[in-house]
Amino acid sequence: MTIQRLPSHLINQIAAGEVIERPASVVKELLENSLDADATRIDIDIEQGGKGLIRVHDNGTGISKDEIAIALQRHATSKIHSLDDLECVRSLGFRGEALPSIASVSRLTLASRAVDQNLAWSLCGDADGDLQPAAIPSGTMIEVRDLFYNTPARRKFLKTDKTEFGHIENIVRRVALSRSDVEINLVHNRKPVYQLKQAKSREQKERRLQQLCGASFVEHIINFRHQASGLGLSGWVAVPAFSRSQADLQYFFVNGRMVRDKLLTHAVRQAYQDVLHHQRHAAYVLFLEIDPVMVDVNAHPAKYEVRFRESNSVHGFIRHTIKKVLADVRPGDQAESLMADQVRDDLPFAGNFGKDTTARQHSINLPVKEQLLAYTEFATRASGVLPEQSRPIPADPETSPPLGFALAQLHGVYILAQNKEGLVIIDMHAAHERITYERLKSSMAENGIRSQPLLVPVTVAVSSREADLAESSLEVFEGLGFMLNRMGPESLTIRQVPGLLRNADSASLVRDVLSDLVTYGNSERLKTEINKVLSTMACHGSVRANRQLTIPEMNALLRDMEQTEHSGQCNHGRPTWRQMTMPELDRLFMRGR
Ligand code: ADP
Ligand code: MG
Repeated sequence: MTIQRLPSHLINQIAAGEVIERPASVVKELLENSLDADATRIDIDIEQGGKGLIRVHDNGTGISKDEIAIALQRHATSKIHSLDDLECVRSLGFRGEALPSIASVSRLTLASRAVDQNLAWSLCGDADGDLQPAAIPSGTMIEVRDLFYNTPARRKFLKTDKTEFGHIENIVRRVALSRSDVEINLVHNRKPVYQLKQAKSREQKERRLQQLCGASFVEHIINFRHQASGLGLSGWVAVPAFSRSQADLQYFFVNGRMVRDKLLTHAVRQAYQDVLHHQRHAAYVLFLEIDPVMVDVNAHPAKYEVRFRESNSVHGFIRHTIKKVLADVRPGDQAESLMADQVRDDLPFAGNFGKDTTARQHSINLPVKEQLLAYTEFATRASGVLPEQSRPIPADPETSPPLGFALAQLHGVYILAQNKEGLVIIDMHAAHERITYERLKSSMAENGIRSQPLLVPVTVAVSSREADLAESSLEVFEGLGFMLNRMGPESLTIRQVPGLLRNADSASLVRDVLSDLVTYGNSERLKTEINKVLSTMACHGSVRANRQLTIPEMNALLRDMEQTEHSGQCNHGRPTWRQMTMPELDRLFMRGR
């Protein structure tokens, strides 16, 4: 056996195996380099899904003649010089690997003109090639032809042009979302795919968002920005009624870097969990700003994962912020108007009302009538509506409340109301259910959770780390109605459980909570279980279909919806109300044409 150093070309090809998986990875690296070079315009030309050609031309700072060859050498970077630099890196690149790796598995040409020079120079192949004068107006142009021509094993794994281009489009979309201040043009086989102008104002940004994520998304988003304790979160989240069957509209950026990070996704999922059907996925474009010192971006060769120094507080910050943003959406905050047929297309759960109620018909029969009476009384007092007196619709539409005033009840299922914009249709069971649920939750928050001793304490086997953690978070458990003792190095005893969860498997609940605490630093699991019970109670305790309501009762329900958090959707994530505006109705009847 002889031990010998590998030739540098082979070293680069091995490194390429890690970072360059497919044409889209090349595009990602080149775009990141352009952004790091402060480009404000990037043109991307692709042929044959990137297998034939990938050309990225930017108007950034460029590379000076004597540095072009160095840029193609392994471990050569202008972005960091020391470990200290690495710890607070702001640029997207820093590993000095991309260009030599790409050059080692393709036919690469680099042409660049540094801002302070009046000539452009180009280099073909690798760092050892000869510099030639080039004709590019500014910035840097990198051309990558015949990717993987010399690594047939890799080339074999490539999919069809269409699939590979799909991956490229995804990368371009992410970069374009992360930097709306940069003009980006994408062309495939000479056909323009994206022409994205620089966007500065919110309107321009949302127009760009529409080009990238679709019109339907943009019609259902909430824009927000929140800053606290050195962290910033901003962006767009879709209201829960706009949910997806796949997690394909979820974009997260940390200091402008696109990431796919378990901790971040989990935090957002938790924020939505109370308002989203469990099989549906939220849609969002989110930007986290954090002191670079608090995040390690050198955790993954393609830099898709990050490590937070204080992951618990980052998780908590995201979860709380988004939860708050979602809770603050009330009727009247935004135009949630959709045509009826559009509703059916977008929302597989809308229209399932009948099925759902039948399925639960055999449920506990709470005294609905009494409950509703008490509830109407409460709502009446709260909103000042007089139930005895049927209320005329006020002449001045400006003073009309967001959901307007009830006109009638349709087939015992829907309330029809009139507001400033037009017609409002309310699913009365879904709406009442949400109100009851929120009320049960806040009463629980005010009065605490009643705990109940177990006749026979339950012993749970856990790891010693989990047992330590349980011991140090006894108060957390107590707050949720659980009484625990440590029995040995790896065992706990449960003595008391929340009354509402007395029929649940308390041992596995405690184990799951501890595993959440270990992974995420917090657990919403007990709260979720309790909320599930409350949600069932709310569902059974809410006004059923086919219950005749009086106009004042209906109005009381509308006023209550306006006061209730999350009132845009029921506990199962279905919408509770829809608006049909006058123009939409006019279109329906071809009025004014
Ligand atoms: P890294 O981005 O990690 O530094 P790369 O191999 O991607 O490593 O690039 C090497 C160097 O080449 C960069 O540090 C930068 O100085 C220079 N460079 C690459 N692309 C561009 C570009 N589009 N504009 C200006 N300079 C660039
Ligand atoms: Mg780079």
